Amino acid sequence: MADRRKLVVGNWKMNGMKAQLGEVEAIGTLAAAHPGVDVGLCLPATLIAAADAGKGGAFVGAQDCHMKDSGAHTGCLSAAMLAEAGATWTIVGHSERRQDQGESDADIAAKALAARAAGLKVILCVGESLDVRDAGDAEAVVSAQLLASLPDGAAGDWLAIAYEPIWAIGTGRIPTMDAVDAMHRALRDALAGRIGDAAQAVRILYGGSMNGDNAAELLAIADVDGGLVGGASLTAAKFAPIVQAAA
Ligand code: PEP
Repeated sequence: MADRRKLVVGNWKMNGMKAQLGEVEAIGTLAAAHPGVDVGLCLPATLIAAADAGKGGAFVGAQDCHMKDSGAHTGCLSAAMLAEAGATWTIVGHSERRQDQGESDADIAAKALAARAAGLKVILCVGESLDVRDAGDAEAVVSAQLLASLPDGAAGDWLAIAYEPIWAIGTGRIPTMDAVDAMHRALRDALAGRIGDAAQAVRILYGGSMNGDNAAELLAIADVDGGLVGGASLTAAKFAPIVQAAA
């Protein structure tokens, strides 16, 4: 098996004011105490610059970027703007954006390329609905979604994948460990079909109700290379057992 460093990333979504910068600092301290794990927080854009100053051993990332460098796109942020603010990573293709903003696979591939051009590393999210899971099609559907969203030049030094079953996000429900194992293998196979041996270096994270109680079991699965964590990343106290489980 390839030697992939575990990557544990918090996604704060639309949560976080300056009053929560103390949690960022505490998570930075936590990250510094676990140098064998890559730890980061994808924050609201409004907090990126302030968080950059107190991030300790963690990296600061964004949750989305526009696919264009600049222009008439009111309310949007380019990857270069996020990088200038201090982001070194960004999420693209989170299911909440695919649903709420109607982002297509092609949009997401374009955003990933824009992020890379601005020097950001990328977490590309994919995942199935409950209907797809119940129909028994999850691996085929998510593999196809991954290949349709995959940017040209995909490689492990700048791209990670997050498998996030939509029905597991924020619900407290997670797939069986066998189902996670099967999905991560399927995604690695799909990647290998596209980029060959380079697929071994691409980290595939699990996301969806990961917490201190289930992280160790999830992170022990061979092709689970880390986690994308929503609710349990909002405080250092909840995030710590996940980072420890990855160490
Ligand atoms: C997410 O939104 O990326 C996520 C995994 O959320 P939660 O951990 O809260 O399910």
